Amino acid sequence: MTMPNSPFAALRADNRQPDQLRPLSFTPHFAPHATGSVLAAFGNTRVICSATIQPDIPRWMKEQKVPGGWLTAEYSMLPYSTLDRKPRDISKGKLDGRSSEIQRLIGRALRAAIDLRALGPNTLWIDCDVLQADGGTRTASITGACIASALAFERLVREKKLARSPMKALVAAVSVGVVGGVPMLDLAYTEDKEASVDMNLVMTEKLEFVELQGSGEEAVFTDGELEALLTLGRKGVRELITAQQTAIQTGIATPAA
Ligand code: UDP
Repeated sequence: MTMPNSPFAALRADNRQPDQLRPLSFTPHFAPHATGSVLAAFGNTRVICSATIQPDIPRWMKEQKVPGGWLTAEYSMLPYSTLDRKPRDISKGKLDGRSSEIQRLIGRALRAAIDLRALGPNTLWIDCDVLQADGGTRTASITGACIASALAFERLVREKKLARSPMKALVAAVSVGVVGGVPMLDLAYTEDKEASVDMNLVMTEKLEFVELQGSGEEAVFTDGELEALLTLGRKGVRELITAQQTAIQTGIATPAA
């Protein structure tokens, strides 16, 4: 057995290289009553992502005659998704600040991917429910929500409810961070806890940025470290986009029952 402090100890608990994503898995049509859905797994982080179309728009849009549709996102962690049971927000009577921040991020990310005018007078509800949390639940949520939306649109086009898919570009998200002085891709919870710099990248398939959230946790970071993190992030996003394309093709080839 390799001792933790030996020079031969693995850098990461799961033996990954610093620039390696966790094993990815996308299971399309996981929630068949949604218009589109997928179970998105980044290693042990698993999120049920669904996209449901409702044929209506908020009243303010009608009153202000805003053309097109609306998109809204909700995020929650199931009580048994964490090591210690996390009570549902409803039992505390208010939405947790972190959940609120994450669902707004998911909404912004998806709005960059979707042409709301082409959605017509419909609301797209994105629901991301964390089944198992092990770091990167927001990045798995965004990446899965994009797949769920693409599958929802494909179904609506097939059913002749939409003339064309409103998806402009795929978006994917990944975390990067500096752990033990080493820049790393796609942090698991134990790494996230130890990270001196923690960053989430949201990017389109053209590798344009939608959002960058980065902070030193009681630490600072240099231009060089930032560049290293961005290089890792771009590599991760490229791989995620390829996996999204495969999942969407698989989902289209095997429609929900
Ligand atoms: N976490 C938890 N309980 C919480 C919030 C977070 O166990 O109430 C864990 C969970 O594994 C999560 C990780 O901490 O994935 C990192 O949380 P963070 O707020 O950084 O968001 P995430 O990395 O999941 O997007």
